[in-house]
Amino acid sequence: MKVAIVTGASRGIGRACALRLAADGMTVVVNYSHSEAAATEVVDKIRAAGGDALAVRADVSNPAEVKEMFKTVWKTYGQIDVLVNNAGIVRDEYLLMLTEENLDACLDLNIKGYLYCAQQAVLKMFRKKSGVIINMSSVSSKMALAGQTVYSATKGAVNSMTQTMAKELAPYGIRVNAVAPGFIATEMIDALPEDKRAQYLTEVPLGRFGTVEDVAAVVSMLASDGAAYMTGQTLVLDGGLSL
Ligand code: NAP
Repeated sequence: MKVAIVTGASRGIGRACALRLAADGMTVVVNYSHSEAAATEVVDKIRAAGGDALAVRADVSNPAEVKEMFKTVWKTYGQIDVLVNNAGIVRDEYLLMLTEENLDACLDLNIKGYLYCAQQAVLKMFRKKSGVIINMSSVSSKMALAGQTVYSATKGAVNSMTQTMAKELAPYGIRVNAVAPGFIATEMIDALPEDKRAQYLTEVPLGRFGTVEDVAAVVSMLASDGAAYMTGQTLVLDGGLSL
């Protein structure tokens, strides 16, 4: 049975990816940093459906905690086949209002966190000469939204690291791809004022916000052998928003 680690899997897109990969037959490590009860609920749901899952706490922007998490997974399962680098934050601020604290938080989690986890996963994937890494990017890496200078820069970095890692790791049988979602119906979208939501909706050619299951379906495909010849790509999943 394959073992997948999904970072930031206690809610939102990460939760949907964890449930989907479990439904695909994988053992799933549900990473979280604060929301223990929510992560446990995801694990319980997977187990209730007959799958295997483990919740592991680690702030993935902290390299020592990342190492500890991978050690725990290795001790428990002795293999790591799929890494979904999903945990990420948005700190929307206009350039002139940008604080050092928010800048550091975004860079530390959205860029460094992805690299720390990839590094640890690859150390284990090397042994089997196979593995899949999926990095959660954003359509903000492809189109400009005022107020997202830092967020878009981090997601642009995710696309670039995806390409480079893919080239570097291909000889070892490790595939690396990214998914760039547009507006996905999560708490973030729910929290918008009704008029703002309606305005955003008019900008999506497919006429609806994406669901977390839409994203999980693409992650599932990338993790599967159906994508065996695909590496280094960023798949945009935005209902046509960026066209
Ligand atoms: P979300 O609902 O805010 O969930 C974030 C998840 O990450 C939570 O499980 C949270 O768990 C975890 N997390 C936060 N900081 C962490 C840390 N330092 N270490 C480990 N886990 C941490 O996020 P989302 O909207 O599903 O977004 C997930 C990813 O998709 C992000 O990379 C985001 O940039 C990307 N994305 C989202 C959208 C969208 O419309 N939602 C669109 C494009 C791209 P805790 O509460 O335990 O910290």
